[in-house]
Parts: sequence; C-alpha cells; structure tokens
Amino acid sequence: MQQQIVTILGATGSIGSSTLDVIKRHPERYQVYALSAASQIDKLIAACELHRPQHAVVLDEVNAELLSQGLRARGIDTAVSFGPQALIDISIAAEVTTVMAAIVGAAGMSATLAAAKAGKRVLLANKETLVLAGALFMDAVSQSGCVLLPIDSEHNAIFQALPDSYRENPYQSSLSAAGIERILLTASGGPFRTRDINTFPQITVAEAVKHPNWSMGRKISVDSASMMNKGLEVIEARWLFNAPAEHIQVVVHPQSVVHSMVQYRDGSVLAQLGSPDMRTPIAYGLAYPERIEAGVKALDLFAVGRLDFSPPDFERFPCLGLAFAALKEGGAAPAVLNAANEVAVAAFLNEEILFTDIPRVIESALSRLSTLAALSIDDLMAVDAETRQFAHFEIQQKTVRC
Ligand code: NAD
Ligand code: MG
Repeated sequence: MQQQIVTILGATGSIGSSTLDVIKRHPERYQVYALSAASQIDKLIAACELHRPQHAVVLDEVNAELLSQGLRARGIDTAVSFGPQALIDISIAAEVTTVMAAIVGAAGMSATLAAAKAGKRVLLANKETLVLAGALFMDAVSQSGCVLLPIDSEHNAIFQALPDSYRENPYQSSLSAAGIERILLTASGGPFRTRDINTFPQITVAEAVKHPNWSMGRKISVDSASMMNKGLEVIEARWLFNAPAEHIQVVVHPQSVVHSMVQYRDGSVLAQLGSPDMRTPIAYGLAYPERIEAGVKALDLFAVGRLDFSPPDFERFPCLGLAFAALKEGGAAPAVLNAANEVAVAAFLNEEILFTDIPRVIESALSRLSTLAALSIDDLMAVDAETRQFAHFEIQQKTVRC
C-alpha cells in the first residue's frame, strides 16, 4: 500500500475537520502535505500541531502573519503562504497524490480545477465547482485521467451503486446503455419540510442553520433549508454521472439513512445506506477501492425503524425549481444561479434579507443575466462576478424597501 500525500482545501470546515479525523485514524496510509483555511487561525494551528503539514495557506496577509506567529510560538515549522495562487500551488505540488476539495462556494473552483488538471486523486466536496463549471471541470478530469471521487453523501452513494465500468468512465457510455433508468437523489427536506408555509418570512438564521440530521457549515445548512442544496446536487449529478435532468428524480426521505439510489431497467433499485455522518463518504473517497474504519457508528436499522419517501414540494421550495430551470437553460444559467445564491445566503446569514428573499434574488439574477456568454473559464468567472454585483445591488434595494 502506497501512502497518500494529502492536501486539504478548507481544512477548518465541517468536511475538512471530518477528513482530518479519518486521516488521524490511519497514519500509515495518509500523510498531510498542506492545509488551507480562510481565517480560523486557532483551529488551523491546532491542526498543524497534530498533522505537521509542510504548508499552510490562508486568505490574506493579515491571517498569514497571525498564523506564522502562532506556529513559531509552538515550534512548528510549517511554511505559511496566502491567496489564490498559493491554494493552486498546494494542490498541484509534485509530492501531492490526493486533494480534498472542501472550500465552500465558488472560491474553491480554481484550486480544485488545477488539481484535476494535474491528475491528482480529487475528493470533491465543493459542489459549487461543478455547478459553476461542470462541463469544463469534467473535460479536465477526462483529459488528465485523474480519479474523481464524489464526497457529497448522495453522489457518493450513487457512485457506490453504479456499475464499476460506468462510474469510472461515465462519458464513454450513457445511463441507458448501462441499463439505468433513473438516479434517485434523496433529500431530507431540511428543517422546514412541514413548517406552515405562511410563516416562512419569519424564519430566523438560527432556525435555518439547524439541520435535523446533519451537522454542516452555515452556507450548506441554509441551502438545505431552502432545498437549493438539492438543486445544486441535481446539477452536480448531471455532470458527475453524465445524467440528463429528466433521469434525475429528487426523493424526499426525512430520515437521511438512504443516501441515494440507482434504478435499473430490470426493476432493481440499488441503494447505499448509513448513519448521517460525512466520515463515511470521506473514508470511501480516501481508501477507494478499499474500505477503512471511519469512526462512524454502525447503522442500527431497528433504531431507525422506518424509512419514508415522498415527492418534493416545488411550491414550498422554489429554489429547487430554479435549479432545474437553470440546468435546463444551460450556458451561463447555472453559474448565475450559484453566484446569486451565494450572495443571497450570505445576506440572509447577515440578517439583511428574509429567508423568502433568497429565491427572489436568484430569480431576478437568472432573468437578467443567464444569457451572458459562458464558454471558457474566464467567461464563467466574469458571469460569476457580474452576478455577484447584480445580486448585491438587488439586496441593497430590498434592504431599503424593508
Ligand atoms: P464550512 O463553512 O464548514 O467550511 C468551509 C471551509 O472553506 C473552511 O475551512 C473555510 O475556512 C474555507 N473557506 C471559506 N471561504 C473561503 C475562501 N473564500 N477562500 C478559501 N477558503 C475558504 O463548509 P463545509 O460544510 O465543510 O462545506 C464545504 C464544501 O463541502 C461545500 O461546498 C459544501 O457544499 C460541501 N459539502 C459539505 C457537506 C457537509 O456535511 N458539511 C456535505 C456535502 C457537501
Ligand atoms: Mg449532499
């Protein structure tokens, strides 16, 4: 067994911390090469103390100075750098075999794409990369021949339930040629699945970030509450599995035990089940095609008792419909959807807009900007920037109106 040398992008986040937890259990298999974080310097110092990476990367010079001081005080000789190019450098360094892409949002795209181009084993948690630049990212994957392992629990489940030949080369076949009728993408329905829809304007930040089953970062928690997360995941599945939107069915499953399913032509439905703990898909990605211990409690089906399934409610969760519409429209629309959502969610978390304003901001951006040209990465970055500017403006207007 060859030891993997790992860079973790977004090491202080929910996925980053879970990745370090799995790695810590298997020092003979994994060595940490580099860790990155936007700002949580104390957490990053603690991770450096434990894992002794060669490099640590933060967002800016101020945080880099704080980190350097903290590391020096503890006698840790990790080299410190900052900024987007440093993130790329730690993702493509010759020694690195494996990159965990766990930065939240479009900020994670450049380094993730660079890792794929460099042929690294890419563990992809950062779904926004695929929403923003799915076609270009998958092109990079097939050109470099890199091993791409989905970490999002649903996509990891689908990956596990697909035929070997298909999951490793989805673009050389099609779902129907592989005997697959549909991908069944499960969704918990989030904290507001049964809440009175008339009270949605009063939803607080504390209520929105409190997911019933999963413990996650704040942005993805709000996305789960609006079901935009499932919308982003539909787009993610489209690219990861070469799956047309009409072959992806969202299935609301409040227990979050069945992590997704693949329905075959002969009537079989293959599912992956487990406790809602991201260390399972992370361990799968780290060890693939082997299986390793992940610190996850065994699933107790008797304690679970029952599994419920129902169709999604598009009226209650307009973000889901907006994501399907953006996928259907193609071109710049998914990039617009993603950027407008990021800005709107940040504004909601800052209590500048209501929960119910999130889909309004996105819809307005989609109707104004989705016809922009989006052929190259530069085009997509321009769409992303323009959408952010537009969404900020819309939000200012709304704040003035409130
Ligand atoms: P998080 O907010 O807990 O952590 C995000 C990490 O990214 C942190 O280390 C933060 O410092 C870093 N970061 C934030 N902004 C940055 C920037 N501008 N530049 C560089 N680094 C930055 O988020 P999370 O919940 O761990 O999610 C990470 C990604 O994984 C997201 O794309 C999310 O959709 C995806 N994901 C998360 C889960 C989960 O259970 N948390 C499940 C599936 C997919
Ligand atoms: Mg998911």
